[in-house]
Amino acid sequence: MTTKGDGTRVVHAGLPSPVPGRPFLPGPVLAAPYHLDPVEGPTENGYGRPDNPTRRALEAAIGELEDGTVRAFASGQAAITALLLSVLRSGDTVALPSDGYFTVRAFAEGTLRDLGVAAVLVPTAGPYPSFEGVRLVLLETPANPGLDVCDLRAVSSAAHAAGALVAVDNTTATPLGQRPLELGADVVVASGTKALTGHSDVLLGYVATNDEGLTDRVTTWRAQTGGIPGAFDCWLAHRSLATLDLRLARQSANAAAVAELLAGRGDVTGLRWPGLAADASYEIARSQMRRIPGIVSFDLGSAERVARFLTASELVFAATSFGGLHTTADRRAQWGDDTPPGFVRLSCGIEDTADLLADLTAALDGA
Ligand SMILES: *Cc1c(COP(=O)(O)O)cnc(C)c1O
Repeated sequence: MTTKGDGTRVVHAGLPSPVPGRPFLPGPVLAAPYHLDPVEGPTENGYGRPDNPTRRALEAAIGELEDGTVRAFASGQAAITALLLSVLRSGDTVALPSDGYFTVRAFAEGTLRDLGVAAVLVPTAGPYPSFEGVRLVLLETPANPGLDVCDLRAVSSAAHAAGALVAVDNTTATPLGQRPLELGADVVVASGTKALTGHSDVLLGYVATNDEGLTDRVTTWRAQTGGIPGAFDCWLAHRSLATLDLRLARQSANAAAVAELLAGRGDVTGLRWPGLAADASYEIARSQMRRIPGIVSFDLGSAERVARFLTASELVFAATSFGGLHTTADRRAQWGDDTPPGFVRLSCGIEDTADLLADLTAALDGA
């Protein structure tokens, strides 16, 4: 399948072979226990926590896109903490992005620290310290929300030389935008809540790796701690995957147009989009990413101006999260993270580009 184009791959990802009279994508199998063979006992499906065929089909689909074995979780955080807690032990050190998803840092500063695991925070843009004595390096690129990018090949080989395992949070790029396992990472973690499923109706996460021992540990972790996604959510996610290529193409085209619009305005500062030739992340993004995400970040100077901008806009929904069909904007500081008060993460949806540009122009003029 890897020789086919992205549009073809997502349409066919994880589908069973055609059977006359059966649907293309089988509906969700909603079961807690399954019938057992009274003589043989458990065969493939025994109980819903370790086993669900709808979930397995989704895992096969994402696995084709990441080129690894996938285990799905109830959310991105469930997947990330499953990796951290199945790898890290008391006395270990983990390197985390200082500018990445803030709940991961909060987890490190609370639960991990209490378990005796030390965290070193490193900015995604570097400089990277020596990884001597580090057990796991978690990278997030492009980083959410600041959109810095790190050189995955270079950082992975430095980490491997020091004996560390390399994990990459691939949420923002999605597997169509970037394949970390090909670039040298050992394992991918991601939230499927964002662009991967893209309809703002599902929370999902996954771990992907070609390290069988790690897959076994994560599978055991999930079976014993129970952070599984439900069958209906897995089915919705799988159904949504088929349009990933189209959705990302429009989101990225909209982001390119929005970035160009914002770059030409004197009342917007700190503009970031890794697809802009002037962006600090442009060169590395171009060398390792297959497409640039639909997220643009910038600063409007104050919380009040962001509020006026969002009130004046007809098309931009005030919402957190990103990667969905609808254009949304989030003033991150309202959630207590460490961004400036006027910092906005704008997630471009799939609306018509001209409508979006007209709406943004009017809303910024009005703000
Ligand atoms: C949203 C997000 C997460 C957490 O995912 P949930 O599905 O909300 O648990 C982790 N990493 C990144 C980069 C994210 O954007």
